[in-house]
Amino acid sequence: MLSSRMENLRPYVPGEQPHDREYIKLNANENPYPPCPAAVERALEQVKSAPQRLALYSDPDSLALREKIAAMLNSTGGVLSRARIDGGEVLPCEAEGLGITSEMIYAGNGSDEVLSFLFYAFFDSAEKLVSPEFSYSFYPVYCGFHSIEMEKVPLLNDWQIDVDEMILRAKKFHAPTIIANPNAPTSLCLSRKQVRRMLEECPRDMAFVVDEAYVDFGGESCLPLLREFENLVIVRTFSKSLCAAGMRLGYLVANPKMVRAVLTVKNSVNHFPIDSFAQNFGSAVCENIPYYIECAKKIVFEREDFSEFLRARGFFVLPSSTNFLFAKKEGHSGKAMYESLKKEGILVRHFDTEGIEDFLRITVGTKEQMAALKRAMEKMDF
Ligand SMILES: *Cc1c(COP(=O)(O)O)cnc(C)c1O
Repeated sequence: MLSSRMENLRPYVPGEQPHDREYIKLNANENPYPPCPAAVERALEQVKSAPQRLALYSDPDSLALREKIAAMLNSTGGVLSRARIDGGEVLPCEAEGLGITSEMIYAGNGSDEVLSFLFYAFFDSAEKLVSPEFSYSFYPVYCGFHSIEMEKVPLLNDWQIDVDEMILRAKKFHAPTIIANPNAPTSLCLSRKQVRRMLEECPRDMAFVVDEAYVDFGGESCLPLLREFENLVIVRTFSKSLCAAGMRLGYLVANPKMVRAVLTVKNSVNHFPIDSFAQNFGSAVCENIPYYIECAKKIVFEREDFSEFLRARGFFVLPSSTNFLFAKKEGHSGKAMYESLKKEGILVRHFDTEGIEDFLRITVGTKEQMAALKRAMEKMDF
């Protein structure tokens, strides 16, 4: 009864979303802050003032939303925690204009959906796909789904992506590449210069995907490289820095030719992908960016404070450019620490995967949440 394709499926296991009790949730890299109240108000008002719109299909092309996303990227320079607010005006993290247009954007239901479509559009089951050994665990899942063989490149001793080896393998197999930058679950980022070197040396006729889910917390965006590299595809999400994981909004930025390929996939699967409420809400989010810049800055502040706390307690903590910390402590198993924190009502993420099983991945929450976590760790003495 089942198709043979089912044999290749190894579904992704997300961070728990338990309902049995109220936990402090630091396990799925969600933003601890609510969306901007003005954005919520605006989207609700649009429904109330014209409810009949919900009886109609949504805009299949999400044009207004894509225009707002382009304007948001151009005004901020692509990294919220580095952008500045001056008298209400948003000043970009880099002076140079990015020149992003709506034709360079494809928007979908969360970046996971966008990723799934671009796997379909750009990666072939006859080829390999080069990716770091430890990266976003959805990539191998999609590889299974699309029957693509993943060429896993081990990380360096300092847990950083091995740029040279990634290049060697992409050349050797004439293969496309996917990285998350900053990477998950390591929290480390490559500089734009390092990514540019990969783009220069990897096959130019193969897609090179950079997943920038966490870039707003301190990474360097590769958006300025889009002008030079037609094979570059940058994936971004509203789920982390834009406080809207439940809204399911994600997008990619690339050369219009690449965007059209993804549109072809979308129009062969589900041509009204984003519902009208989510489109309106996403547009309102993009118009309230100063709020999100403040949230990103608060998270970066708490992250640095909490890494100091962990280091002072003898933890090994990777220097994070994200909204989470990847840390371990000699003599303590990751699983045991995860379990005792859960008993204290705090959820963090632990992976059973060999090689990273000692680590905890801890999402950075509010000051109050981090204070509760500190107290729990002091109480349990780890
Ligand atoms: C969270 C995350 C995503 C998924 O985001 P959604 O937009 O919620 O689907 C994609 N890539 C990475 C690396 C992530 O951490």
